[in-house]
Amino acid sequence: MTYTIGPVSCAPGERVQGLIPVGVSTYGVDLGIPLIVINGAAPGPVLCVDGGVHGDEYDGMEAIRRVLAETDPATLRGTLVGIPCVNAPAFEAAARTSGLDHANLNRIFPGDPDGSYSLRLAAAFVEQVIPAVDALVDLHTGGAYGEIAPLTIVQGGYEELATGIGLAAGHPLIWKGGKWGGTARLSALQAGKPAITVEAGGGTYREETVALHVRSVRNIMRHLGMIDGQAELLDTYTEVSGTFARSSAGGFFLGHADPGEECKQGDLIGRVVDHYGAILEEIRAPQDGIVLWVRRIRTVRTGDEVVIFGAVEGELRP
Ligand SMILES: [Zn+2]
Repeated sequence: MTYTIGPVSCAPGERVQGLIPVGVSTYGVDLGIPLIVINGAAPGPVLCVDGGVHGDEYDGMEAIRRVLAETDPATLRGTLVGIPCVNAPAFEAAARTSGLDHANLNRIFPGDPDGSYSLRLAAAFVEQVIPAVDALVDLHTGGAYGEIAPLTIVQGGYEELATGIGLAAGHPLIWKGGKWGGTARLSALQAGKPAITVEAGGGTYREETVALHVRSVRNIMRHLGMIDGQAELLDTYTEVSGTFARSSAGGFFLGHADPGEECKQGDLIGRVVDHYGAILEEIRAPQDGIVLWVRRIRTVRTGDEVVIFGAVEGELRP
């Protein structure tokens, strides 16, 4: 059956690309959500994989292009929708937030069709993408400012919907995150669709992070029966909750622990020093746990995030 998402239609066994329009740039160029669609020859679920909600998280964007390039429409069961870069104005600005209205797209879902560009973008995603898919995998990294341990966010309260694809993403850490709202993930979950965020890497673009994201998407496709093979699952997964530490002083940030590193309560994770080397602040583990994200940009201002610390909440066995 022909598959349609926004203005893009794709016959079985075909691959097409197109744009869900959201507006027009001052150059007169169409702005919107770029899509690559592969409609498999055989029926099956519709999986959407998106990247670039934050414009400085490059690894997921490339991972999506690679998975789509390597997927054969003749053997695919179901439909794969790739959105390599949701937030083109943030990508153009090489920034987390939009160059058009400086909004953080990952905090303003479900958006507003009459609002600023980012609000319109979120609204177009909610109105045209989410209803056209059966599951959503949202690829992120730690961003240009920081690096994150490979992990999967399964939103608390939506475990029944999201744990299946969450475990198939293949990372041993499951962050029961999402006290904050406004994400594409939450909008999809509220629409009754399985949705997760997969995090890995950051700081800069790395081929190893691209490979991690490709592996996650392929394993989720196996889990959903879209491609041949058995999904690989780990024996156990560690559930964590996250605590954001912010600096009380501006200065130069020095990290003393890496993402994924286990810490005992009181262990040094980072320091803020002034230009003379005097220590202005020490960031220590608030309890035993795992460092999830560490700042990589050395400039730190009062109130900036420096560390996300993970407390272990339990073990999960598939
Ligand atoms: Zn992100």
